[in-house]
Order: sequence, then C-alpha cells, then structure tokens
Amino acid sequence: MRFKVSILDLVFATHNQNKLEEVRAILPKTITLRSLDDIGCHEEIPETGETLAENAKIKADYVTQTYGLDCFSDDTGLLIDALNGAPGVYSARYAGNQKNAQDNMAKVLSELENVDERTARFKTVIHLNIKGQSYLFEGTVEGLITKVQEGLGGFGYDPIFKPFGFDKTFGELPASVKNSISHRGKAIHELAEFLKKETI
Ligand code: IMP
Repeated sequence: MRFKVSILDLVFATHNQNKLEEVRAILPKTITLRSLDDIGCHEEIPETGETLAENAKIKADYVTQTYGLDCFSDDTGLLIDALNGAPGVYSARYAGNQKNAQDNMAKVLSELENVDERTARFKTVIHLNIKGQSYLFEGTVEGLITKVQEGLGGFGYDPIFKPFGFDKTFGELPASVKNSISHRGKAIHELAEFLKKETI
C-alpha cells in the first residue's frame, strides 16, 4: 500500500542527540523527526533480543505500541568471522556491563592474538513501523581487525577496524569519510530512499 502525505511525523527511538541530528540531516525535509525524549519517553528500552534485527524491532515496537506513533530504531554490531560473529549483538557490553570501549577492544585483540583470519564487518539494522506496516533496512561495511589500536578518533571499535580499500582505521579516517562508507550511513540512506518514494 502506498501512502502519499506532505509531512510525515516519525520518532527515532534514541536518546542520543548526535545520532538524531546526523539522521535528520539525511532524511527528506518532509519528515518531522522526534527523539524518545521529545515524546516524553525517558526510560532505557531494554535490548533483550538475540539479534540486531530483534533489538531494533523491540525498540520500535515499544514506541509504536506505547505511544501509538510511527517509529524507527537502529541497532549496530561488529561481527568478527574468527569469533563466529561475536561480539555482534553484544558489542556495547562485550567486556562487561560497564560498556567500556577500551575494555571491549582489549578483549577482541586478545581473543584474536595469533589469529590470521581477521575479517569482520559492522552491520546496522533499522526497523521501521509506519502506517501499520514494518520494514527492515541494513547497511554493512567490510574490513579487517588490526593487531593494535590505530588512531584516536571515532568511538567504540573504530581504532581497530580498517575498512577494505583504505590503509587507515575508522579511528584515523576523517568522520566525513567514515560516514560516507559506514554501515550506519548506508542503512540510513536506504531508509531515506524509501521514505522519499513513499512521501511527497
Ligand atoms: P548502537 O546499536 O549504535 O548503540 O551500537 C552498539 C555498539 O556497537 C556500540 O556501543 C559500539 O561498541 C559498537 N558500534 C556501533 N557503531 C559503531 C561504529 O560506527 N564504530 C565503532 N563501534 C560501533
């Protein structure tokens, strides 16, 4: 079913103002985007799923069911082949509930010590609930896990992830370069293309 409206009111299920602004800059101007705090939802929605897609769905469904609003949410993970896809859905808290990026990177590097197969990918999944229907969008970026941290930029696992085609890690590349090839950037562009087609 196609729906043509001039203005679309959408919630992005995040408390992160930086993420909100990043996404707002990419989505069509016909979308009025609001964060969880903007709709008066100040709690942390528990991410109890076993996959990125499940977690994204849990967050978007919570907002749609509780507030009756159209909503999308994202979930991201680093999937390392030699670790059978870990840390994956547990990326934020891989080394414990303190959710510390240095601890997480140290754990990954120690698990990959003496491991030659270092291929990995970042993956972002977006779950969208709109007009009673649900849609999924994905973005990935492939690369290699380095042997040591390189660079201080970015966040999370950026200093140990070198995307294919580049000789620098996400921790060294400028944010503009990272955003143009990143998992999250790709998934958001997929969402933006869909919304452009469905709205005027
Ligand atoms: P979230 O779903 O965006 O909150 O991401 C979950 C976790 O994945 C974060 O806490 C980071 O550890 C990791 N992560 C997500 N996106 C990135 C990225 O762009 N670079 C490095 N690590 C990331």
